[in-house]
Amino acid sequence: MATALEELPTLFHKYGVAKNVLGKLILWNGDITRIKVDAIVNAANSRLAGGGGVDGAIHRAAGHATLQEECRKYSGCKVGKAVITSGCGINHIKNIIHTVGPQVYGKLSEKHRDDLISCYRSSLELAVENKLSSIAFCCISTGVYGYPHNAAAEAVTDFLTNWLENDQNKDQISHVVLVTFMPVDQQCYEKYFDEFAAKFKTA
Ligand code: ADP
Repeated sequence: MATALEELPTLFHKYGVAKNVLGKLILWNGDITRIKVDAIVNAANSRLAGGGGVDGAIHRAAGHATLQEECRKYSGCKVGKAVITSGCGINHIKNIIHTVGPQVYGKLSEKHRDDLISCYRSSLELAVENKLSSIAFCCISTGVYGYPHNAAAEAVTDFLTNWLENDQNKDQISHVVLVTFMPVDQQCYEKYFDEFAAKFKTA
């Protein structure tokens, strides 16, 4: 059974502040192939060839051959960019957005951060372009690509709250679901959203 968006409380329900931003954000722990939204975002590899982790789960749910066929129309995808395919029948979602996160081996750099943010920005832009209003992200790059969990959650919370406050297209997005799979990611997001919400409580 897939979880419907309406069943999930937004962060506004938790914090009661910053309605426009936190009213659009949902933190959900689970399998991204089990959520019913307009689009889910896959952490793909640059060949769009299907792999392990979340990519493998999405390919299995979609039917590997079907999704591979759709991905073939692109000649891969660069780090920080995103491409779109149909939803391949997963929970009646409309589309799958495939983005390629940075690989972090060794010291985390500004370039890694910029590339990670670019994945989220490119995916949101594709959602807007395709009139998709609800979008679920996995925690891009925090699996085998090695991006530190805490730094990823900090960068993504900062980017998303700003985007939802300021971007000219913000009204086209009704909900952004941050799907965590490992408890560590859930804890990191909770910490940074606590900090974000606290600014409004004391304002
Ligand atoms: P990357 O190569 O970008 O690191 P991974 O698939 O290894 O991609 O991990 C990306 C994130 O997806 C990790 O946080 C991992 O815990 C999470 N993940 C793995 N399987 C699923 C799933 N079925 N649903 C949601 N998130 C998942």
